[in-house]
Amino acid sequence: MKTRVAFFDFSSCEGCQLQIANLEEEILDLIEIVDVVSFREVMKEHSNEYDIAVIEGSIMRPMDEHRLRKIRSRCKILVALGACATTGGINKIRNQWPVENVIKEVYKDADIKDNEFFNAFQTKAVNEVIPVDYYIHGCPINRDEFKHVITSLALGKKPVIPTYPVCVECKKNENVCLFELGKYCLGPITRAGCNAICPTNGSPCDGCRGILSKPDVECVMEILQRYDLTYEELKSRCTLYNTNVFNPKDGMTLVRRSKND
Ligand code: SF4
Ligand code: SF4
Ligand code: SF4
Repeated sequence: MKTRVAFFDFSSCEGCQLQIANLEEEILDLIEIVDVVSFREVMKEHSNEYDIAVIEGSIMRPMDEHRLRKIRSRCKILVALGACATTGGINKIRNQWPVENVIKEVYKDADIKDNEFFNAFQTKAVNEVIPVDYYIHGCPINRDEFKHVITSLALGKKPVIPTYPVCVECKKNENVCLFELGKYCLGPITRAGCNAICPTNGSPCDGCRGILSKPDVECVMEILQRYDLTYEELKSRCTLYNTNVFNPKDGMTLVRRSKND
């Protein structure tokens, strides 16, 4: 029997699922090895019997948590898809304000009291609610990486997700570093896997694939010094996708490189 895959969306723009729908004829290679049993964006059928659950979107409400736990209980492997799911992504921007203020700002005086649909809490990434087995990062995801992850899992192999920074891919593409051009870039602290698509096209990396779990902080500090840039600027660049990376009290919480790394 083929591995059964189901897709689920929570708070998101659904752009990561769209990337998968846009695989077009390449999707034929995938469905040779997996059965897609649920995927609201592209099919009407739905089944509660699946091996791999792919989750897109952030978790914003108690009713989302309840649904997510049910999905986790039904699958063998759970994959978080895209920044909204893997880190909370841009949905976490709103966590800098009390949730009551955000609700008031959005819904004004509408009568939403006691309606569970509007009963929001602070944005959570999927792994803040249930265990996640694999992560497909990015906003949106990289389609090749998606194919690699799903194919590996269907074949019983462990997918390989880069643990090195975007700069590595950027250098391989022989780009002139954007710092040299007076721009700012989060490539040195961001997880690779997108083939450095932004700097390769002249735009700084905004860190959509998330900050490395062990970034080379010494190296980042060296870059900041070399180009006469400030820590505050680095921090301000991280507010799009990585508002949770910095400790507001004492600055950078990035782990300093240990001698053994
Ligand atoms: S990660 Fe980006 S593209 Fe994907 S669903 Fe979230 S906002 Fe959309
Ligand atoms: S442009 Fe950005 S990703 Fe490329 S080498 Fe410079 S800092 Fe790294
Ligand atoms: S270069 Fe940075 S912002 Fe652009 S896709 Fe890659 S990780 Fe995301």
